[in-house]
Amino acid sequence: MSVVAYVGIGSNVGDAAGNVRRAIRALGEAGRVRCVSSLHRTPPWGRTAQAPFVNAAVRLETGLAPRALLDALQRIERRLGRRTSYRWGPRVIDLDLLLYDAMRVDEPGLRVPHPRLHERRFVMVPLAEVGAFPRGRGMARA
Ligand code: ATP
Ligand code: CA
Ligand code: CA
Repeated sequence: MSVVAYVGIGSNVGDAAGNVRRAIRALGEAGRVRCVSSLHRTPPWGRTAQAPFVNAAVRLETGLAPRALLDALQRIERRLGRRTSYRWGPRVIDLDLLLYDAMRVDEPGLRVPHPRLHERRFVMVPLAEVGAFPRGRGMARA
């Protein structure tokens, strides 16, 4: 059984666009990548005295449970060279589990939907590109 999950990707250290592309390729080990957004160059959020980010989002079909998927994302982060950095600080790669089917998860170390996703244009725009908000499914229509 597989479900649809959405993963947010960001990088602002080194070759940011290259890091995002490497992460997208690596996500193939967590499931099937069904749709990839364009790469967005965005100003830093939260702690603003750092380099701009490249952000993207991916629609993934996965057989992994949410926690196992988060583990896989963190493994990929480490492999691509992420060292522990402070929250919202500069990083080689950041992979966030944004949405997992229609599921809500609220446990230590894992909250889905990602709690800050709606506050962030750099997350919402790529998410919309990969079809996370289809018309007529719970979204307000003008
Ligand atoms: P933000 O979560 O606001 O985007 P961040 O990505 O900079 O900030 P990190 O330092 O990458 O934060 O992660 C901190 C912790 O967030 C991780 O160790 C992880 O356990 C936890 N976490 C909780 N929910 C999620 C989620 N949906 N996706 C990724 N990490 C999550
Ligand atoms: Ca993040
Ligand atoms: Ca993160």
